Amino acid sequence: MKIDLHVHSKEYSACSSQSIYEQVQAGIDKGLDGLVFTNHHKFLDKELIEALNESYAPFKVFNGIEITVSTPRGSEDILVIGLHDKRLESSEWIYEDLHEFVTESGGFIGLAHPYRFQDYIAVDVENFKPHAIEVSSSNLKDEDIDKRISLANKLSCHIMSNSDGHHNGAIGSYFNIFLDPIANEKDLVQALIGGRFMIKE
Ligand SMILES: [Zn+2]
Ligand SMILES: [Zn+2]
Repeated sequence: MKIDLHVHSKEYSACSSQSIYEQVQAGIDKGLDGLVFTNHHKFLDKELIEALNESYAPFKVFNGIEITVSTPRGSEDILVIGLHDKRLESSEWIYEDLHEFVTESGGFIGLAHPYRFQDYIAVDVENFKPHAIEVSSSNLKDEDIDKRISLANKLSCHIMSNSDGHHNGAIGSYFNIFLDPIANEKDLVQALIGGRFMIKE
């Protein structure tokens, strides 16, 4: 199954020009089997997610979030999937606390677009390893992919490829191929943590 784990929509991300419906339709048109909305510090409403899954079945729509964590050295964006706690809708998180909260709650934590904002990682990923690292996306330079893959290898993290799609055209070019059927969010989180997926080459 082909799933994009990092998608924005204009209703909740000022940087996006595409609506929730346009993004889902783009995913279907490009042959994906599902996508995860990860707007900045904001989940979609649970009822909306349920309605989307009913309307667009068998296409799967998941409810994740992207959280910016700031440090004196710079900031990083963190993807969380599998949890819907409103406390996650905050830009005040300290990375170590967020990592502990997500992993102890059974969620998935991923590092989005490393080296996008600075040429080092601003948070302590060595002692607080994310489950996966995004190595390619529409917002990353392809020529730097080796640097991001080396980081993932060094930390023994899984690698993921996501559109980080804000605009038409980004969806469908970056996705992950899951080795097992993903029927629900529990399956998705289990596959993500277990590394039962590979990036689209
Ligand atoms: Zn981001
Ligand atoms: Zn993003």
